[in-house]
Amino acid sequence: LRRNPGEPEFHQAVREVFDSLEVLEEAGSEYADLSILSRLCEPERQIIFRVPWVDDTGTVRVNRGFRVEYNSALGPYKGGLRFHPSVNLGIVKFLGFEQIFKNSLTGLPIGGGKGGSDFNPRGRSDGEVMRFCQSFMTELHRHIGEYTDVPAGDIGVGGREIGFLFGQYKRLTNRYEAGVLTGKGLSWGGSLVRTEATGYGATIFADEMLRARGSSLEGRRVAVSGSGNVAIYAIEKTHQLGGTAITASDSSGYVVDEAGIDLELLKQIKEVERGRIAEYAERRGDSARFVAGGSVWDVPVDIALPSATQNELDAEAARTLVRNGVQAVSEGANMPATPEAIGIFREAGVAFGPGKAANAGGVATSALEMQQNAARDAWSFEHTEERLTQIMRDIHATCLETAELVGRPGDYVVGANVAGFKKVADAMAAFGVI
Ligand code: NDP
Repeated sequence: LRRNPGEPEFHQAVREVFDSLEVLEEAGSEYADLSILSRLCEPERQIIFRVPWVDDTGTVRVNRGFRVEYNSALGPYKGGLRFHPSVNLGIVKFLGFEQIFKNSLTGLPIGGGKGGSDFNPRGRSDGEVMRFCQSFMTELHRHIGEYTDVPAGDIGVGGREIGFLFGQYKRLTNRYEAGVLTGKGLSWGGSLVRTEATGYGATIFADEMLRARGSSLEGRRVAVSGSGNVAIYAIEKTHQLGGTAITASDSSGYVVDEAGIDLELLKQIKEVERGRIAEYAERRGDSARFVAGGSVWDVPVDIALPSATQNELDAEAARTLVRNGVQAVSEGANMPATPEAIGIFREAGVAFGPGKAANAGGVATSALEMQQNAARDAWSFEHTEERLTQIMRDIHATCLETAELVGRPGDYVVGANVAGFKKVADAMAAFGVI
């Protein structure tokens, strides 16, 4: 705490993992090794840089860029870039720390990292976003590479931004190094299913948790928060699996659509027009209503898929969900549920899938994109989706088996943290003190 002042989200993420690892200490396991734990609290490298750019009025703007190269025990640093005004070093460190264990759980050879900027893309023209991305990459390009560090998207960074970033990297390095970024467009090295992967994966994880208890997503009412990349494809997969997603939100409020969210309309407003969620209710007709502000978790549902941002689901929201009979919560976003909320779900016996397991489908498919780039290959949608589904089932099984093994049956938080940690700890121990 003294070493990392003013970084509450980072403290929260570390505390949750260390709480889970207490089961190893109790069992006198060799993995409860303080030298590894203390090294895990310190990123391998943290880069902070100035990002100057010129807006459409000719005014010079200055933002701050970050890349935290957290841990490379299992492979090159891998994790997204977030462009949002709330980004600071503590946020990037929390996301990078989570990413280490998430990437380990995928079973693929990728280390953990994260980056971004306090740049707010909302309301900015394509030209402004392009100039910002070019300036951001002008510094970042020295630090990344196919074998070093492979960024991707996150909040505020989608296909458009990855395009501008990749274009500038290619220009600066004079190399067509497709494997340096993931989330690329399909005509220039991207992978099918990458866009859908995080939302699909979190929904598949929810279905797996329900199946482990003898039911499924079929016929269930589902609440989804957010209306960005993760939320849209969580809604799509919910409908494919026979459930009905009835909510979506953004930072201005939420919509409830008792007939089920109309995906085509949502995609048109959010992906094409970059509009606000209130417009969905205006254009959808009688079945939908918009609630300004408020909490999407007030809507009675069987399943919750929080897919917006960290700490969006607090104790009060958890109590409401439990009172309304929620059976499973699967985190599409990173750390959306507060520790108090997780405690309430645990006590009530609600199946709870933590982000580092439930939303790992995105980074797993990014690693599949890297495989395709390395092999100069492009897989079909069906093949890639099959790989994603199998990876999600394997992660679910690993969490469940590990939780059982350490005497916490059904606790996916402990299962994910212990299983993710063991693999990283093994590699770190093999490398000696570095
Ligand atoms: P997007 O930028 O595509 O969408 C984010 C959505 O969340 C928007 O609807 C946004 O609304 C809403 N949101 C963001 N901040 C807040 C806030 N403070 N309060 C209320 N709503 C908010 O991002 P993604 O969908 O890519 O990411 C969502 C979450 O999923 C993040 O936690 C991210 O780290 C995580 N994640 C993403 C992965 C990916 O592959 N994209 C992979 C794994 C995890 P508004 O427009 O009003 O800001």
